[in-house]
Amino acid sequence: MARVYNFSAGPAVLPEEVLKQAANEMLDYRGSGMSVMEMSHRSKIYQQILNTAEADIRELMNIPDNYKVLFLQGGAYQQFAAVPMNLMKNRVADYVITGQWAKKAWLEAQIYGTANAVASSADKGFSYIPDCSDLPISENADYVYICENNTIYGTKFHTLPNTKGKPLVADVSSCFLSEPVDVTKYGMLYGGVQKNIGPAGVVIAIIREDLITEDVLPGTPTMLRYKTHADAGSLFNTPPAYGIYICGLVFQWLKSIGGLKAIQARNQEKAAILYDFLDSSDMFKGTVVKQDRSLMNVPFVTGNGDLDAEFVKAAEAAGFVNLKGHRTVGGMRASIYNAMPIEGVEKLVAFMKDFERRK
Ligand SMILES: *Cc1c(COP(=O)(O)O)cnc(C)c1O
Repeated sequence: MARVYNFSAGPAVLPEEVLKQAANEMLDYRGSGMSVMEMSHRSKIYQQILNTAEADIRELMNIPDNYKVLFLQGGAYQQFAAVPMNLMKNRVADYVITGQWAKKAWLEAQIYGTANAVASSADKGFSYIPDCSDLPISENADYVYICENNTIYGTKFHTLPNTKGKPLVADVSSCFLSEPVDVTKYGMLYGGVQKNIGPAGVVIAIIREDLITEDVLPGTPTMLRYKTHADAGSLFNTPPAYGIYICGLVFQWLKSIGGLKAIQARNQEKAAILYDFLDSSDMFKGTVVKQDRSLMNVPFVTGNGDLDAEFVKAAEAAGFVNLKGHRTVGGMRASIYNAMPIEGVEKLVAFMKDFERRK
């Protein structure tokens, strides 16, 4: 068995301990004689898995009692519609456009109401986070929307926008559980789990209770109403049961290493190794302004497309895979999520130094 260093933006690397535990429990989950994949989602044993997963994420993120934790499906993209359908009471919302995912959410919201772009960093190729301290928030906006960590461009909101009292809705797909957060600053945060928590298909949404109502837009399908899933404890229909189980194992792994403060320290250390090198290299350069850099996704370029391609190929041959930048932006991108070991980044930087020296 040879594991590679996988720098994929998503689906992405998971902790080896979790994969091994899942393998050990594959044929017989804790004496049940079956895999979690084969269990009734209404069984006692599965209810225990779900309860533990919810309790663990609540503990990790210090989620207050007046927030619901929903395990949903349909990917983050599904939420681009579900958010306006559930929250656009006045049919007005304000969006901050910091990249493709924010833009896609904004375009989807326009199907349901007036979605205003109140700030954007498109003028400089989404290489920074706009100043959101005094946005022109609409009087009757139902919420203010951000994509907190921009997976493709490698920027992160290190300060949340001043929403002037409106609920903040954040897509945290690519920074979920990467550092401590103050949940009370959000009306809702959600993410697809395939970036930092588990297998694709599961979405975790954390929503303040007063925002979960029956007053949704006409035509909102039952399955897209937050109330449906909140009332049913994420068991309205068959949930993505196996995926939730893996998320639960990742929560336990995070707890075992010291929780979100500990993973934040690791993530800062890992990212610093790569950013320090990029700042000192003559060949490789980061593409994001320093103060807005993501700890999770690190895009970089050589400035020469052929050299970029040569690097990606050589890196892959050496066991550093999925370093090609997003198809729409080119260059390289190293996604260094929670489960990327520090040696993976150290060895990547050593490889980059060697590549540079040989040129
Ligand atoms: C990957 C990603 C998405 C899309 O997720 P799907 O599960 O494929 O719908 C949305 N937002 C962000 C920030 C992402 O990184």
